[in-house]
Amino acid sequence: MQANARLTIAIQKKGRLSEDSIALLQRCGLKLLSSKSSLFYSAENLPIDLLLVRDDDIPTLIRDKVCDLGIIGENVLQEQENAENGEVFDRVKLLGFGRCRLSIACPKESTVSSLQGKRIATSYPNLLNKYLNENNIDAKVINISGSVEIAPRLKMSEAICDLVSTGRTLEENNLKEVMVILQSQAVLVKASEAISPEKMEVYDLLLRRIDGVLQAQESKYILFHAPKNAINDIKKLLPGSEAPTIVPLAECNERVAVHVVSREGVFWSTLEKLRAAGASAILVLPVEKMMF
Ligand code: ATP
Ligand code: ZN
Repeated sequence: MQANARLTIAIQKKGRLSEDSIALLQRCGLKLLSSKSSLFYSAENLPIDLLLVRDDDIPTLIRDKVCDLGIIGENVLQEQENAENGEVFDRVKLLGFGRCRLSIACPKESTVSSLQGKRIATSYPNLLNKYLNENNIDAKVINISGSVEIAPRLKMSEAICDLVSTGRTLEENNLKEVMVILQSQAVLVKASEAISPEKMEVYDLLLRRIDGVLQAQESKYILFHAPKNAINDIKKLLPGSEAPTIVPLAECNERVAVHVVSREGVFWSTLEKLRAAGASAILVLPVEKMMF
């Protein structure tokens, strides 16, 4: 790898995506050193730098080639893509954290059956306008930048369009969710052009490691004892698993030890079915890393 070709990734400096973004990159093996300004992290063991910024700035930084990649919510990305002259970015990988939805909500006591002619307060005017146009709803979009949930109480609007994850903020503000307009999660993005050739090697390495981390998070290593003649039935209970390894047990001809990696979460109900099929001494272990 060329010494001066460092891959730069923009991540959120402070907020809901920060910790998970850093944790993901650390699980990919990056040993991060922070700079004095705390605007940068530099990986000491790989040619990768992190730039810590507001999430809304990430698309511009990628477009202006200050960064090669960014980690950002699909909601912010689509809002900017839908802006006038907005450009489309490449979604390299869905990352599975920062899950939320962009929803329209109105006061609980509201009895209005349609949004026609109503005012909707939001920080996502482009996404909301697109949704309203596509659904032929003639409502007025009120663009406000923070604390959207108080707009109905201030009589600024009859409804809001904001991010929801647990629904607690809506509940606290006496609002009910009436429609979901976008499901969102964190995504690794890049510009639509290819990564420059001198950074390709580290880019490929990072993507392979991210794949490994994401797959390992979902996967479990399962060990148990089972009657030899039940193995075929038991395999069917473990969808998403690799071919099991069968190991003989000392001084026992009927039962064997089975080791298997399942690529899907393993629920209690699965263990109960395994037990009913004759398995015993069942252990489920987390998988830390994976590579194929
Ligand atoms: P910044 O200072 O970086 O602009 P912010 O206030 O825009 O921060 P956060 O509230 O930290 O951003 O949210 C960042 C992202 O986290 C959101 O854009 C969204 O993708 C995701 N997210 C997940 N759950 C929620 C939620 N309940 N409310 C808001 N954002 C959420
Ligand atoms: Zn933001």
